[in-house]
Amino acid sequence: MTETTTGREPIRASEIDPKFKYEISRMHGGEKLLKCFQCGTCTSDCPVARFSDTYRPRTIIRMAQLGLRDRILKSDTLWLCAACYTCTDRCPQDVEVASVIRVLRNLAAERGLVPQVFKDQACSILESGYAYKIPELRIKKRETQGLPPLPNGSPGKIRKALREVKFFKTLENKGAQCGQ
Ligand code: SF4
Ligand code: SF4
Repeated sequence: MTETTTGREPIRASEIDPKFKYEISRMHGGEKLLKCFQCGTCTSDCPVARFSDTYRPRTIIRMAQLGLRDRILKSDTLWLCAACYTCTDRCPQDVEVASVIRVLRNLAAERGLVPQVFKDQACSILESGYAYKIPELRIKKRETQGLPPLPNGSPGKIRKALREVKFFKTLENKGAQCGQ
């Protein structure tokens, strides 16, 4: 996964999947995809777009409308969204932009197209209950600072709670990611 979603590359007819927009529209959060009229408010208010040359939520929405399934799902740029929901709050058409991006990420995850950093983070949550493995050095430093030990994670409870979360389910079903 090294591609970026710039939307600037020429579109080939063979890339277009006309059913893609309807597929997204049937999913929770993607229902209003077709209402986007490309005003650009989401991009202009997006805190990530402000610091990225390639990340543009408006472009992602347009590419989804056009049916550029592979181009979006294979793009690393899709994973830059910080899920702050500013775009969703500001969209004059009530498009749930952040939710559409979540839907697209789930579709990408179903194909195993998840950047390694997120796979590692998800595996860490499933295995330890923590998003990151806390380095031994930091644990020792807490002791020297008189801080109490970190509570044990509850991966069992987390697995139970997240059983129906598609991303985790996909990750577990694929099996290959965790512990490798
Ligand atoms: S703010 Fe809404 S209508 Fe405007 S480009 Fe973004 S998604 Fe489309
Ligand atoms: S939810 Fe994602 S796309 Fe929307 S404003 Fe926040 S970072 Fe940008």
